[in-house]
Amino acid sequence: RMYNELQDLKGNIRVYCRIRPFLPGQKGKQSTIEYISENGELVVVNPSKQGKDGHRSFKFNKVYGPAATQAEVFSDTRPLIRSVLDGYNVCIFAYGQTGSGKTYTMTGPDGASEEEWGYPIFLVEQTFVSFDLRTLGIKSTSQPSGLAVPDASMQPVKSTSDVLELMEIGLRNRARGATALNERSSRSHSVVTIHVRGMDLKTGASLRGSLHLVDLAGSERVDRSEVTGDRLKEAQHINKSLSALGDVIFALAQKSSHVPYRNSKLTQVLQSSLGGQAKTLMFVQLNPDTSSYSETTSTLKFAERAS
Ligand code: ADP
Ligand code: MG
Repeated sequence: RMYNELQDLKGNIRVYCRIRPFLPGQKGKQSTIEYISENGELVVVNPSKQGKDGHRSFKFNKVYGPAATQAEVFSDTRPLIRSVLDGYNVCIFAYGQTGSGKTYTMTGPDGASEEEWGYPIFLVEQTFVSFDLRTLGIKSTSQPSGLAVPDASMQPVKSTSDVLELMEIGLRNRARGATALNERSSRSHSVVTIHVRGMDLKTGASLRGSLHLVDLAGSERVDRSEVTGDRLKEAQHINKSLSALGDVIFALAQKSSHVPYRNSKLTQVLQSSLGGQAKTLMFVQLNPDTSSYSETTSTLKFAERAS
């Protein structure tokens, strides 16, 4: 019922906010998030302002606090993912500054145990296992923003382990390992697409659905005084593609008659899974540290336009 209501109101876009916990080395830090509620509200406090002036409240479809588990997040996301099997195109993003937990939400921590896996892997394990894998295809790419999609290849899969292997390549490997790699990954978008081709066993009708899983480049503003040359260009590409994405989501949320898909490669690639009958979920990721206050508010303002 919740989904139908959203469908009527918001053109199939929903926004979930997730606040990551402080990490083991961050004991005693202050949080900028003062309050979250069951109904999706959260209040952020400006650390340099006293009293009510420094408080600002936001409202999303859901808010997950630092104690939320992967399993909890997955169980809320599962109905949406299941709709891929009914022939819907579904797109799930993670948006936020570097270090806010985007990759964690999408794929879990490095060396994850089963409970810590991100929902895409749960999805494969729990949902597609019961489906005819003969017709599942998967395509993955790590896309330097603003550029043409490189080495995206479509691979047919025959078993769950084929799928897991490809997801590993597409999402996890990118996040894994050396700091240098991590540094790179925060400056590119990663898109994994799962195409489902199947048949409804009751009616015999053919079904086509797709799932895009998008771990976006870090949304932080890069200080112009600190980078030059290629790095500056890269940062500008990222900012441009993220704001193009924001404009598309905003237009869809407003049910605007013109949706500016063509303004970036990213939105062109994702066009079929944004708008129309497609269903979109944006995870807005937050680092609770007071030192992230200004990135946190700009992330929340970005997300607010979509909800
Ligand atoms: P991003 O992809 O946005 O740069 P990461 O997903 O790499 O951020 O998260 C940054 C760090 O925080 C990693 O060490 C990650 O394991 C940890 N982390 C993120 N979210 C959570 C969470 N919900 N629970 C525990 N640790 C988390
Ligand atoms: Mg990451």
